[in-house]
Amino acid sequence: MAKKYILALDQGTTSSRSVIVDEKGVIIEIEQQEIQQIFPKSGWVEHNALEILETQVSTLKKVIEKANINVADVIGLGITNQRETTVIWNKNTGKPIYNAIVWQDMRTADVCEKLKKEGLENHIKQTTGLVVDAYFSATKIHWILENVPNAKVAAAKGNLLFGTIDSWLLWNLSDRKIHATDYSNASRTMLFDIKNLCWDETILAALNIPKSMLPEVKPSSFHFGNYILDGYKIPIAGIAGDQQAALFGQACFRKGEAKNTYGTGCFLLMNTGTELQFSKNGLLTTIAWGIDNKVYYALEGSVFVAGAAIQWLRDGLQIIKSAEESEAFALEVEGENPVIVVPAFAGLGAPYWDMYARGAIFGLTRDTGKNHLIKATLQSLAYQTKDLLVAMQHDAEIPLTSLKVDGGACENNLLMQFQSDILDVVVERPEITETTIMGAAYLTGICVGLWKQEEILSHRKIDKEFTPEYTVEKRDRLYKKWLKAVERSKDWID
Ligand code: ADP
Repeated sequence: MAKKYILALDQGTTSSRSVIVDEKGVIIEIEQQEIQQIFPKSGWVEHNALEILETQVSTLKKVIEKANINVADVIGLGITNQRETTVIWNKNTGKPIYNAIVWQDMRTADVCEKLKKEGLENHIKQTTGLVVDAYFSATKIHWILENVPNAKVAAAKGNLLFGTIDSWLLWNLSDRKIHATDYSNASRTMLFDIKNLCWDETILAALNIPKSMLPEVKPSSFHFGNYILDGYKIPIAGIAGDQQAALFGQACFRKGEAKNTYGTGCFLLMNTGTELQFSKNGLLTTIAWGIDNKVYYALEGSVFVAGAAIQWLRDGLQIIKSAEESEAFALEVEGENPVIVVPAFAGLGAPYWDMYARGAIFGLTRDTGKNHLIKATLQSLAYQTKDLLVAMQHDAEIPLTSLKVDGGACENNLLMQFQSDILDVVVERPEITETTIMGAAYLTGICVGLWKQEEILSHRKIDKEFTPEYTVEKRDRLYKKWLKAVERSKDWID
């Protein structure tokens, strides 16, 4: 019998990637192309939506060629994508009416202020699970409609369609037939009622967004439509936003399981099961995925400065030459590190939310050296992750059962061991850290009947497990010191 393959696409902020995954869940080929970052003004970030489509299609064709497989053996296509990034296009011409406005773009901060003044903050929190912020798609759609000539008229006539990147790719790959998205992407628009699973009329009205522009919302593991390549029909059968896809790719299927991605920042998501939990600590509530007629929720929090603090050691202080080198220097510190670095370079995020805080270093003595500083900076990634997990556990009232890790800085063994020590849970690093794209592949493979969800657990190979070694006394004492340092770094800017 011919082998079967899944084609998975990862349309990220900096590149479009395509991979071929075989029946055993192994990535056999990868193809990647960078995309251009467009900065028209300070605080504005755009992508060319046509370039996104072209690079994605070109990498998917190339990866099939490179893997040397038959298109007929590709039995499913999955998509994961940078979340919140907004595209509006004309459904008759197929052309975007403006560049894609990227999640990082802050041009609509004033629209968010207006929504708050109109008293919508609480409504938005209760329906969408999000805090009012320019990150999310809603105010970006509003901006395009208000600022592109004739857009409002075209939208009112029903000629314009909105989509996050997954919808834009799906509509094009399905030969302009399917205008849909999945629950995880919809839950990042700040327009979607995550309890009743429908678009929210109140927010749409407040932003003058016609409902006719919005995609249909479907489960994440679902036969959305077909992509026809060389005469073969490939079912498009899995879609999820990048962080949720990573949660799925890490097989965090049960309540209380969480994953943390250690990149420039950290993205922490915890599966909270099928019941909706709102946060009292400034975390976001989001839909993890829809599968088997059920919707699963997650709590999400992010650390703004994680790997970025290591970059600061390298480029700012210039006390290391590469991020990897940080581990060897940190290992030179014997015993407990008396130094604490709070990298609140741009204020403190969840659960503190203090934009007036600034970075600080505590515990300096005459014999403090660069190794202490390097180790303390690494440890700050783990302390900040603990802050988020403590808040999540309060909100969800469920204990953390395990932490699965990915992202560039998870390669640092000292950091991972300290993460386990300070959390008192096992930290599990998978062999394949391509968890995001694997999440899309798994959602697709499950839909087309290649795998069962439980089977995926057996696909995952663990590279290394870090088990906690600290005593309760030591852990509590160190964490108290960190909390004291955070308190002292608050409210620094007048
Ligand atoms: P992103 O996707 O946000 O660009 P990556 O997942 O590629 O991030 O991870 C890169 C980040 O991780 C950088 O900020 C870098 O400083 C940090 N990093 C990479 N390797 C290590 C390491 N061995 N130890 C500590 N930090 C690391």
